[in-house]
Amino acid sequence: MQQDSEIAIIGAGVVGLACALHLAEAGHQVTLIAPEDDESGASYGNAGVIADYAVMPVGTPDVLRNLPALLFNRDSPLAIRPALALAPWLLRFARESLPGRARLNAQAIAALLAPAASSWKELAAQISGQDLLKPLGSLYLFETEADRRGTRFETYRAHGVAVEEISRAELGQLQPGLPEGIGLGAAFFPNTITLDDPGQMLRRLRVAVTAAGVERIAARVTRLKRGKGQVTLRGEGLHLNARRVVIAAGAWSRAFAAQAGDRVPLDTERGYHLEYDSPAPRLIRQMTPVSRGFYFCPMAGRLRVAGTVELGGLDAPASEHRWAVLERGARAILPDLPEPDRRWMGCRPSLPDSRPVIGPSRAGPEVIHAFGHGHLGLTLAPITARLVTALVTGRAPELDLAPYRADRF
Ligand SMILES: Cc1cc2nc3c(=O)[nH]c(=O)nc-3n(C[C@H](O)[C@H](O)[C@H](O)COP(=O)(O)OP(=O)(O)OC[C@H]3O[C@@H](n4cnc5c(N)ncnc54)[C@H](O)[C@@H]3O)c2cc1C
Repeated sequence: MQQDSEIAIIGAGVVGLACALHLAEAGHQVTLIAPEDDESGASYGNAGVIADYAVMPVGTPDVLRNLPALLFNRDSPLAIRPALALAPWLLRFARESLPGRARLNAQAIAALLAPAASSWKELAAQISGQDLLKPLGSLYLFETEADRRGTRFETYRAHGVAVEEISRAELGQLQPGLPEGIGLGAAFFPNTITLDDPGQMLRRLRVAVTAAGVERIAARVTRLKRGKGQVTLRGEGLHLNARRVVIAAGAWSRAFAAQAGDRVPLDTERGYHLEYDSPAPRLIRQMTPVSRGFYFCPMAGRLRVAGTVELGGLDAPASEHRWAVLERGARAILPDLPEPDRRWMGCRPSLPDSRPVIGPSRAGPEVIHAFGHGHLGLTLAPITARLVTALVTGRAPELDLAPYRADRF
């Protein structure tokens, strides 16, 4: 059956849902299209950090220096499944890691991050999700002196991020569950907010989106086609004509962007999580052992251990080895952890310069991009929704969108 809509959004992860809510509240008729697999997107299984301190791009001169060692050590926090298809992305990533590029990328990320915490508080209030926000700060755990030396306090402060270096004794007070003898101290980001449960926050968003009058179609879009004054989306059982389309399909957005007229080097950094049920919290604050590339995330009734990066494409099965690396890393800090109760793998939508793509397609503003948020999609979903809504309604966006345009590549 053929349908019409003013605005169609492809994707119902945190970015698509936040855009749908914001646009519907601004008075637009919105249709949200995504398959009913709400736990498979990155938005479900992430670490739950509103990471407004994360001003550094993934690619930096430090990472570039260590790249060969990281890539060829199977147990490092960054792994790669050998595949020729990844070479172009990696080459661009290496270029973006050079000092000048990394500085520009940090500026672009910092501009988006500045309103992240306040925009999340607003969104949480709109969807009755304030109880899921935990204003407890976040810790970067130093296991070695090298960890401490490698932490760029001055860069964080230059971007206005509050961070304190704390001793082992202070760390023990902030994180009483940490076993004695583990860690030398930490960097403490006192203003960071974490989510008690990203899955629960997504459910509240879905309820709010439905209440705001958004129609949801359970379908997988296979084709986006521009026509006169409209864009057509096709898929099995789907034929929808919309005046505007927002592409928010996370790591699956590249083909739609290409069909809209933009070639973007979107790929995926796959991430993993393990969960340990525990009625009494083992840890009270979110904490990252800095050299291991994952987070300990205390969540409702459980401890989630989430993170690491695997460059492995969208289709390869999850890697048993990556779960094992995560499990070993978690036990190195908390030796009495039992077998995990759950495991998950998800696909971060990643560009080589760690900046999302937000803004109109170069072939015309009927298509608006809202994807590629990499490690920061949860953090940046509400601000992305505000920017997309400004574009749709013809208002000047609150930020200069030039650094996030699709035609920067
Ligand atoms: C282990 C891990 C930890 C992370 N930790 C954090 C964190 O602490 N803080 C943070 O800010 N970010 C974090 N991230 C990143 C964050 O989770 C992602 O950037 C964010 O979830 C991306 O949201 P999205 O809505 O763009 O994509 P997704 O959540 O992946 O959603 C994509 C949507 O598109 C739909 N879709 C796909 N194909 C089609 C199609 N053909 N037709 C229609 N719909 C389609 C999917 O069904 C889904 O609904 C983490 C990621 C991982 C993997």
